[in-house]
Amino acid sequence: MTGFATTQAVPVTSRRVRVDVRGTVQGVGFRPFVFRLARALALSGFVRNGPGGVTIELEGDDRAIDRFLSRLVREAPKHARVGRVSVEEIASIGDHEFVVATSGEQGTAAALLPPDLCTCSDCLRELFDPADRRYRYPFINCTACGPRFTIARRVPYDRSSTTMAAFTMCPQCQAEYDDPADRRFHAQPNACPRCGPKVSLRDPRGVVVSAGPSDAIAGAAAAIRDGAIVAVKGLGGYHLACRADNASAVARLRRRKQRDDKPFALMAADLDAARRLVRLDDAEADLLTSDARPIVIARAEPGALVAELVAPARDELGVMLPYTPLHHLLVADADGALVMTSGNVSDEPIAFRDDDAVHRLSAIADLFLSHDRPIEAACEDSVVRVVTVAERRQPLFIRRSRGFVPQPIPVPLSSNETILATGGQLKNTACVVRHSEAIVGPHVGDLDDMSSLVAFSRGVDHLAQLIGAPPAIVAHDLHPDYASTRYALDRGELEPIAVQHHHAHFAACLAEHGETGPAIGLVFDGAGLGADGRIWGGEILYGDIGHSIRIGHLRAVRMPGGESAVREPWRMACAWLTDAFGVEPAIPAPLRETVAPEQWRAVSRLALAGPLPVTTSVGRLLDACAAMSGVRSRVTYEAQAAIEFEAAAKAHRRARARRGGSPSAGVYENSIVIEKIDDQLVIDPRELVRAVYDDVRDGREAGDIASSVHGGLVYAARLVAELGAEVRGSRTIALSGGVFQNTLLLEELALALTASGHRVLVPRLLPPNDGGLSYGQAVAAAWRRKNVSRDSGPNR
Ligand SMILES: [Zn+2]
Ligand SMILES: [Zn+2]
Ligand SMILES: [Zn+2]
Repeated sequence: MTGFATTQAVPVTSRRVRVDVRGTVQGVGFRPFVFRLARALALSGFVRNGPGGVTIELEGDDRAIDRFLSRLVREAPKHARVGRVSVEEIASIGDHEFVVATSGEQGTAAALLPPDLCTCSDCLRELFDPADRRYRYPFINCTACGPRFTIARRVPYDRSSTTMAAFTMCPQCQAEYDDPADRRFHAQPNACPRCGPKVSLRDPRGVVVSAGPSDAIAGAAAAIRDGAIVAVKGLGGYHLACRADNASAVARLRRRKQRDDKPFALMAADLDAARRLVRLDDAEADLLTSDARPIVIARAEPGALVAELVAPARDELGVMLPYTPLHHLLVADADGALVMTSGNVSDEPIAFRDDDAVHRLSAIADLFLSHDRPIEAACEDSVVRVVTVAERRQPLFIRRSRGFVPQPIPVPLSSNETILATGGQLKNTACVVRHSEAIVGPHVGDLDDMSSLVAFSRGVDHLAQLIGAPPAIVAHDLHPDYASTRYALDRGELEPIAVQHHHAHFAACLAEHGETGPAIGLVFDGAGLGADGRIWGGEILYGDIGHSIRIGHLRAVRMPGGESAVREPWRMACAWLTDAFGVEPAIPAPLRETVAPEQWRAVSRLALAGPLPVTTSVGRLLDACAAMSGVRSRVTYEAQAAIEFEAAAKAHRRARARRGGSPSAGVYENSIVIEKIDDQLVIDPRELVRAVYDDVRDGREAGDIASSVHGGLVYAARLVAELGAEVRGSRTIALSGGVFQNTLLLEELALALTASGHRVLVPRLLPPNDGGLSYGQAVAAAWRRKNVSRDSGPNR
């Protein structure tokens, strides 16, 4: 390109255009694709990455340019997401070839990176081919696969902007990288055993046990076969791995990790191996083998060779397939399914820096399988299940992270300002919105300790780097004590916008479906600060994505002991029973062994009258029923009682169905009353609580009771949603909040509401739990900025 038109005669049909392509077009082999397409059509010009996406200039035959433009979108590489394409006519300059130019640095908008991509079939073939020069090389990749988000320091996505910058390609790799005909043309993480990152196997003091790719991985696998726990440096952080069928290794891992009951995820070699662990229908198998390679939660296969302690008291298992070459080699060598759990203690963030990992994991792992390619951004495995909503099988995220981040999520409006949203306290994610796209960052987890806060603020900075434009607004939860709120308010240069917790859940669900409202929102949740300063969690809202009003809620009860009522569901059982009977109830039989009579009496007194927080949380009501019926009185992880209560209900229904019984038999259908109090629809479950109490006393089986409670709740929720919809004249009902991870409630309620002619929206791109909050906060803030003249509703 000389920059000026030449005097050379140009055919009359020749023209030159500048094409700007937005979307996920970097790190997916887009430039090589453009290069090959332009050359095939005998066009000259260039393609270049920029911070705003990809810029192409084309010169040549008129019809060839048209053909190029139509094939550009249609034939784009598999992982590209072509967004807006704008074409501008410019003056011809008469250049004679097509080149890949170096990246420009100008511009401000985001060039969106793809998520990390699982190893493709071509690379996998080479990995296990003894004749290939990358045989057993654990960092094999190409333009169709490999790390992206976790190694990117900034955009534009060039090798020098990634953690591969430190590795200089050998002549052979460089030749592939430079050859437009090669699968590795401009594959930024391109590497081989000669020039790329190397693995090593070390003991917990950092002493190398064996080096060399094959030795280290084979050594780790041999140790795992012998019962060792090995810390494995993966794509977005460290995992702790051991054989899934080795009961003593799993028990040791549980003890050392200080994780009492929360299930461990498994990694199986391939789909067939996964099917020996869990039962998979087509939708589940598709999700498991998708390029994102999430952990898929599915029904455990009876007789699966898995230690009991992998998932205590659950009849489901979370399984994933290998997604990096290192994992493929390790699982193949270990010769059996592995436990693959996040490298952390308890609920801390995942370790991803090498020195930090050794420091934090040396008391847990017997060996470290590490390597020298730094991880820039921590990213945990995503967790998904498949649910049926209105007869369609769709994903329900429990955690959205690796493989999906930073894939943009559309926003049903456009914001010229960059809006940062800081999310909640638990299951934290952050989000940035710019124009009509949102990028939700990786799962950070619970912001309860310093290490989580450091991870959180690092993640926010990384996100801001990737979007390329500094935020002007920061949206946050109403709760003043959330660490994410304090962080937002400490960013003095940004304008803060507070968004009520359950409104954010509601807005997130609407917005991801491209809806702005008005609609009815049924938000069933653990806990969030309400607009009235009380703890909410069983809310019926009405409004749009910017504002909503509360039109109903679950009857409020006291939470004896505040936070300890969350850890000890028997306290909620006592509170609900005391409320239901109006006097101190006798201790239900299943609780007599674990709760002392004087404790029970004290809590009952507090429940009757005390300066205590009250809650309208459906999560706490489920906890109470779980405790009353003897399923669980104390928990070791969030929502454990409600989760096990759901599992008991499902197991009971399956058993009944096998005997030919009706799934809804014995449901507490008329035990929940909907009342209108002070303009609010109040769901009053006291009769249900009394019914549970009586049935427990009469010896009715816990699973049977659990099934009836679920049926009763579905009935009441349906009734109140329909009433709200009728009063407000809206046929659209959004279901969100952490309780809707309960698939029994979700599927039955969605089915019932759909059957009565309502349009039911259920989160499918983001989790219904607090992992989706930041997106809801961001879209609410964006909407309010666009509609600043509107009155703000009570749910600020
Ligand atoms: Zn590949
Ligand atoms: Zn090389
Ligand atoms: Zn919530």
